[in-house]
Amino acid sequence: MIAYIGLGSNLGDSFQYLQNAVTQLHQHDEICVTAVSPVYQSKPQGPQDQPDYLNAVVEIDTTLTAERLLKATQTIEQKNQRQRNGQHWGARTLDLDILLYGNHMINQQDLIVPHPWMHKRSFVLYPLRDIVTTLEFPNGKSLQACLKNNPDDDLIRIERQLVVRT
Ligand code: ADP
Ligand code: MG
Repeated sequence: MIAYIGLGSNLGDSFQYLQNAVTQLHQHDEICVTAVSPVYQSKPQGPQDQPDYLNAVVEIDTTLTAERLLKATQTIEQKNQRQRNGQHWGARTLDLDILLYGNHMINQQDLIVPHPWMHKRSFVLYPLRDIVTTLEFPNGKSLQACLKNNPDDDLIRIERQLVVRT
């Protein structure tokens, strides 16, 4: 299954945390990272008293079910000092969100796919645009339309690139 994962960090060495995520996803026996977007700097959503974020999106090919993929991404978050302080949208070392899982629509208590906020987040839409091949989401929204509704004013594309290492 082809899936897309959104990566975000705004604590510590954020670039290194994003790089760790790419490496650790690719090291997983059942995940192959097939594309990596450029890295973007973005303003925090929600609470403003926190540092800017670095964000990227990766495309993966995986034999995991969506539920097991969520577990795998949460394990990687934990390995990277992710603290859950209960504050939604608060600062974090590493956040991994499942954006798309093939063209599946999933509505479970712990997993909603397509990710419920992706169509409103320029820091997801622009890096996704950089690597995605299909322009229609399974919920009927199109990437083009979402991009139009979400200007990239608050996004800065940085020079350094993430690499896929085995
Ligand atoms: P957020 O990313 O919204 O700031 P968290 O990363 O702490 O917050 O995630 C909170 C919960 O969101 C997780 O426990 C997870 O079960 C749930 N969740 C629902 N849908 C998804 C998804 N598509 N990808 C990742 N987590 C999801
Ligand atoms: Mg998350």
